[in-house]
Amino acid sequence: MFDTFQLSNNQPSQKEEGKTENVKCLIIGSGPAGYTAAIYAARANLKPVLYEGLQPGGQLTTTTEVENFPGYPEGITGPELMEDLKKQASRFGTDVRWGLATSADLSKRPFIVTIDNSKRIEAETLIIATGATAKYLGLADEKKYAGGGVSACATCDGFFYRGKDVAVVGGGDTAAEEALYLAGLCNKVYLIVRRNELRASKVMQERVLKTPNIEVLWKHQTKGLFGDGVVEGAELYKNKGEVDEEIVKIKIDGFFLAIGHTPNSDIFSDYLELDEVGYIKTLPGTSKTNVAGVFACGDVQDPHYRQAITAAGSGCMAAIDAERFLSENA
Ligand code: FAD
Ligand code: NAP
Repeated sequence: MFDTFQLSNNQPSQKEEGKTENVKCLIIGSGPAGYTAAIYAARANLKPVLYEGLQPGGQLTTTTEVENFPGYPEGITGPELMEDLKKQASRFGTDVRWGLATSADLSKRPFIVTIDNSKRIEAETLIIATGATAKYLGLADEKKYAGGGVSACATCDGFFYRGKDVAVVGGGDTAAEEALYLAGLCNKVYLIVRRNELRASKVMQERVLKTPNIEVLWKHQTKGLFGDGVVEGAELYKNKGEVDEEIVKIKIDGFFLAIGHTPNSDIFSDYLELDEVGYIKTLPGTSKTNVAGVFACGDVQDPHYRQAITAAGSGCMAAIDAERFLSENA
């Protein structure tokens, strides 16, 4: 049996008020990766302190139904799932706090992480679970139809568009993957590509071009979306800026962005090895970064899967890696 702890009410704890605090295990981020790391770290008695950042609960708080997280046969809403994960982390004693990590010094242990430009935390181990943010085009209609046909994750939302017509924006590997995934579910997939070539790898290009229900709209850019409450179509520029520029309309029910993600790794970039996009590099099969004692989990280190369950799984790995690190370096 485990002790149960009172649920955190997210108020800054008394420890917050001091200037420097030493913690065994500091977790940055409150998505599935951060909370899962917290559950494991708390149960291993690492007394984790977790900072939630500007998006408490992470990306899933911006979606409605989550149907692919194991354990919920009827599905669950994103906010409910994240509230459950938070309760579970708090139950074992995680100190969940408001606050944004604004800078970090990982040059030696204990690592120094500054919260909200004022509070200094000395961390014996650091688990980075700061996620990645999907890029959007910046159109007002993306916000207008958020939750009503606009998505940045085909694996998450494609199922809702079975048998319908959708569009994917982008020409890289992600766009190719998303288009292929949707082609298996939907009646028709338009791939909106701003140039007359794809950036995606050759093999992905071939797959896209061979798929009969994918139509590539070369040299098209999105002008806007239309529909009564939900997306019913898109207006596109064809050959924008050229003499034969024209505006065309397509009828679609879903509009998927696949123009890249920005990993939230900036504040660690002076110390950690990142790939060319900014994802934190980890030793394959582990959560270990190039700095001993610093671990990364979830979307911030995952250019490939970016799912709640893979984020949670890697959060578990990070906590186990941190626990082993501490016992080997006591
Ligand atoms: P995130 O959930 O991105 O959380 C990152 C956390 O880090 C946030 O709490 C943020 O506040 C915090 N943070 C960032 N920077 C700092 C900082 N400097 N200091 C402190 N905190 C910081 N996946 C599925 O499996 N199924 C789905 O149905 C599904 N639907 C989705 C729908 C939408 C609209 C979106 C956007 C994504 C969806 N996903 C889905 C993907 C899933 O949400 C992500 O893969 C998952 O949330 C990644 O978890 P994470 O913990 O790595 O990061
Ligand atoms: P990416 O390679 O940067 O491609 C982004 C695509 O979006 C590009 O085609 C770009 O167009 C387009 N784009 C960007 N901004 C746009 C805008 N405002 N309007 C219209 N189009 C816009 O990103 P990614 O596809 O997410 O891939 C990121 C990395 O992950 C890559 O290294 C990729 O190889 C890798 N990845 C690999 C796989 C795989 O191996 N299966 C799967 C997914 C991702 P331009 O081409 O004109 O710049």
